Amino acid sequence: MTTSPLVRVEMRERTAVLLIDNPPVNTGNLAQRAALHDALGALPGDVDGVVIASAGAHFYAGSDLREFDRELISPQLPEVIERIEGLPVPVVAAVTGLALGGGLELALGCDARIADASAGFAFPEVTFGMLPGAGGTVRAPRLIGLPATIDLVTSARRVGADEAVSLGLVDAVVPAERLIDEAVAYVRTHPECSPARERDIPPATSEEIDAALAAVPERARPNVHQAGRQVVEGAGKDNATALAEERALFHHLRLGTESVNLRYLFFAKQDAAKALRSKEKPRPIRSVGIIGAGTMGSALARTFVRRGVPVTVVDTNADALARLDDAVTGATSIDALSDADLVIEAVFEDMAVKQDLLRAVEPVLLADATIASNTSYLDLDEMGSVLVRPQRFAGLHFFNPPDRNPLVEVVWAATTDDATAATLGKIVATLGKAGIPAGTGDGFVGNRVYSDYRTQVEFLVEEGAGPEQVDAACLDLGLAIGPFAVADMSGLDIAWARRKRLAPTRPPEQRYVEIADRLCEAGRLGRKTGAGWYRYPEGSKRGEADPEVAALIDKCRAEKGIQARKIGGEEIRRRVLGAMAAGAAIVVRDGVARTASDVDVALTEGFAFPKALGGPLRALSRHANGELIALLAEVYASDPAGYAVLEPAARGEVPVDVATLMREVAPTA
Ligand code: NAD
Repeated sequence: MTTSPLVRVEMRERTAVLLIDNPPVNTGNLAQRAALHDALGALPGDVDGVVIASAGAHFYAGSDLREFDRELISPQLPEVIERIEGLPVPVVAAVTGLALGGGLELALGCDARIADASAGFAFPEVTFGMLPGAGGTVRAPRLIGLPATIDLVTSARRVGADEAVSLGLVDAVVPAERLIDEAVAYVRTHPECSPARERDIPPATSEEIDAALAAVPERARPNVHQAGRQVVEGAGKDNATALAEERALFHHLRLGTESVNLRYLFFAKQDAAKALRSKEKPRPIRSVGIIGAGTMGSALARTFVRRGVPVTVVDTNADALARLDDAVTGATSIDALSDADLVIEAVFEDMAVKQDLLRAVEPVLLADATIASNTSYLDLDEMGSVLVRPQRFAGLHFFNPPDRNPLVEVVWAATTDDATAATLGKIVATLGKAGIPAGTGDGFVGNRVYSDYRTQVEFLVEEGAGPEQVDAACLDLGLAIGPFAVADMSGLDIAWARRKRLAPTRPPEQRYVEIADRLCEAGRLGRKTGAGWYRYPEGSKRGEADPEVAALIDKCRAEKGIQARKIGGEEIRRRVLGAMAAGAAIVVRDGVARTASDVDVALTEGFAFPKALGGPLRALSRHANGELIALLAEVYASDPAGYAVLEPAARGEVPVDVATLMREVAPTA
């Protein structure tokens, strides 16, 4: 019998065992589907059953998303599953490792599912803007009922072997070394075929079904709600109709802008992760030291401990140490760091403080320890210049709150060597974070581009928009929270201190809006002081527009002779995107950011820019040239000195640095 390298067929007497062998994770792609389809079509006439299993660690960890931007080529997964269901003998899936998306649907197409303890099942499709498209919404309900299917399909959560058994998704869990033997035995003891599609859906009340649908967060993307509804609607129809409708919706969503953008971001993150790997071997990190038990240091310690990495935190302030989690060791002396393989400093954002600390700490550390700074803005070359071995030093820029914010910038100083970069890249991967490489430069990548956005929204307020109007326009763009509400949440004093620090070097011709300074001078530092851009009366959950702020804004406008004009939501959205493009053009041009897609990763992962848009640059790349030029010209006009990089737009051309970004991120399909 024919054996393709992607599917090996082994006969156990009259039972055919089909071993999918598509390393590293048995991703379903055209070649693998074709091999499986062929193998199923070429079974000997006298087989008494079939086992579908994996030759590797995972049953089938999802479909190859690279195929999803184009028409899918036959045999598509539903055709493979149809062939399984058409066999006159029982077919059993033997699941080890992950069965995700198409992998789970393939297992659902079999007559039974046997798993080992390593098995994990999920429908991750909604996170890519789609829904299961190979019968998942039709077959799963017949095994586990409608409420549980709605939950799995809409939450994308992963279910382990034991839960899979109790749900009814899996028939038995057996020891890993006996998985295939048990599956073969199952075939023989269950000679009758029992495809999921022919079973009745276990009963559920309409209240239970409604509760499962209502558990989908209201803010979830439309495809998530559609996926939940499709499960219910399909249940009311015959199988063929339900499968056809599910497939049609799957194709529609798959080729829609949101899904294409989400896949773009998935590959952008993979690409950034690849760039963080190096030819050099990372040094092992057995324990971590953190200096500074403040906002960042304490949460960072939690992040490491959660991943099983022991942490010692040093702070000169014993009160700060007292607030640490139990699992973290606290110390007041840097001598406690003598065994640490990696030390991250998260002390005050002050060059002299950080340099003094680095000078003092280096002699205490192991000779090959890696030293990282969590600085947000400071010059790492200058900071590291006090070290004897600056090659082991780099930036590791976490974002607040570091235990929840996925973004980390690995910032290479001029002296950082490859082994240090590789070590930090490995740490980012160990923590499960979304890392991007960055070079030194004020604010690195994320904060730099975000600050262009912040500056632009203040221009908009100075010209006539209210803070609440700008925030609302940004929510319409898809942001979860507007920039003024964010500023109030994080506190206005940090940015104020930075503006004061940069004041001496700010070119006098650059536009500067004083409103935020005036708010700070009035003691309005945001939520923590009960007032900032909004006011926060006792007990109120949300900020309220404040007439005092409106009056202060009017006063600032009057001082500059600015006549407030009506500004629409469209203009606000155009200008914030254009401003971010200006910042991105500069960081990519100057080599602070590696690529435009890294900027999109930074803004979507670190700053909650809507992933459905693929990031600000991807969103802009969908504009026709004329529109793009007009939008950039508008931003340029708001501050010709500050946005010099956009000057060609005023002459009707796409600025060359922006064109570079657009070429890189524009959709190809
Ligand atoms: P923080 O003021 O909350 O905490 C700093 C801690 O460092 C304090 O507990 C202080 O006692 C301690 N400390 C100061 N000097 C010390 C020394 N010489 N030895 C030991 N301990 C010392 O500061 P933070 O907000 O956690 O910021 C820390 C660093 O992280 C800064 O570089 C900051 O720019 C950066 N960062 C902050 C944020 C944020 O949003 N807070 C985000 C990203 C990066």
